[in-house]
Amino acid sequence: MSPPTAVIVTIGDELLNGDRLDSNARTLARFLSDEGFEVIRAISVGDEAASIGEAMAEGAARASLVVSTGGLGPTLDDRTREGVAERWGLRLIEDPTVLEELERRFRERGYHELPRTNRRVARVPEGAGTLSNGHGTAPAIHLEVPGAGENDRTLLLLLPGVPREMEGFLRGEGGHLLRTRFGGRVQRLERRVFHTTGIPESALAGRVEAHLAGVEGVRVAYRPSLRGVELVLSAGGENASERLSAACGRVGEFLEPFVYDDPQGDLAGALGRALLERQLRIAVAESCTGGLILGRLTGVPGSSEGVAGGVVAYANRIKVDALGVSEALLDAQGAVSEGVARAMAEGVRTRMGVEIGAAVTGIAGPGGSVEGKPVGTVWFAVSGPRGTHAERLLLPGGRAEVRERAVQHLLHLVFRSVLAPGRESRPGADDPSEHEAGMS
Ligand code: ATP
Ligand code: MG
Repeated sequence: MSPPTAVIVTIGDELLNGDRLDSNARTLARFLSDEGFEVIRAISVGDEAASIGEAMAEGAARASLVVSTGGLGPTLDDRTREGVAERWGLRLIEDPTVLEELERRFRERGYHELPRTNRRVARVPEGAGTLSNGHGTAPAIHLEVPGAGENDRTLLLLLPGVPREMEGFLRGEGGHLLRTRFGGRVQRLERRVFHTTGIPESALAGRVEAHLAGVEGVRVAYRPSLRGVELVLSAGGENASERLSAACGRVGEFLEPFVYDDPQGDLAGALGRALLERQLRIAVAESCTGGLILGRLTGVPGSSEGVAGGVVAYANRIKVDALGVSEALLDAQGAVSEGVARAMAEGVRTRMGVEIGAAVTGIAGPGGSVEGKPVGTVWFAVSGPRGTHAERLLLPGGRAEVRERAVQHLLHLVFRSVLAPGRESRPGADDPSEHEAGMS
């Protein structure tokens, strides 16, 4: 049984002129997908009634459900009711229950009577139903129109534009209406999210596909960012949990070196907890990342137990004075080198009296490249009770990107070494070139 289809229509001039990001489309897409609908299109239109009607009609011609947001308020630029009424030749009729509710709300707020403009929101296309959001603002409206749904009917659900109000309807009466109306046809999706880092999307996808060969009824999606790739497995219908668990079991083992678990999806949070559990403390020496690593680590609430502090050693003099890196080493190898990365990590570890020292030194660009060390060359080192591990990456992208990737890579190296002391080596990549390509 294929899932019922849905079209999203977001309404407002501000979405088309760049004033406002269309967050409602995203919220709705996630909500409807999770509820088991297949969202086949999202359309944005301005405030004119005719465009609204046209978009609604296009949605109705394609899908079983059309959900719109915006244009339900009391002002003259709120024309969603008119757009729908005109398109399907319906009259707008004042709904006495809605009117009563509005009057009551306004009286409670100290008004003697309902302002004329607000009265407009009580007008509803004939044959439509309303949903109250309990705040005395515009109700949501639902009606059936001829369309592509089962029995050639499509449900239109018109929601207000204010994101908080729209979400209120989805959580409450709107969501309830959809479950009642589409009943057994929708199969809620279950999903499992793996936060990965240190493996590029293409390499991840290749391995996931190989491990899931022959597995039916599980959808796979990848969400790459500079911090890594989120792998999302989802399934709906009968035995969805079993199918998902089986799929997760298949990918779990090879993912292990790349996965971390955190409610916020932040590797720094996962690392903070790992440090705490093992009663380890870290100090960081940063050159090209200029404090971003400590920023990430200290951005996690409660991190003070495991995160001691660090040094931003941007100038060579600070590497020497604050970390004890030898001038001879700097002269011989240059600031961006294995020797200096190691010396920085060891220096910050001993000088700050902690179990783990970590360091980054690199060329974030756009200038500063030298023979044999192009922009994006970054050396990382992690020093612990069992010794010091160092490695070099060539990170792609501009300055901000190189820095962000470097932060994430260092956090990952430390995370791996905290989880598996003595195994501070490369986190499981078979192919070093994967690493050279960075994280996503
Ligand atoms: P109101 O009763 O407040 O007039 P409304 O249903 O008429 O509500 P709009 O006037 O279209 O909705 O929008 C109200 C507010 O919500 C505006 O600040 C608008 O920018 C914001 N908004 C509307 N649509 C979206 C959207 N798709 N994404 C994010 N914000 C939106
Ligand atoms: Mg409005």
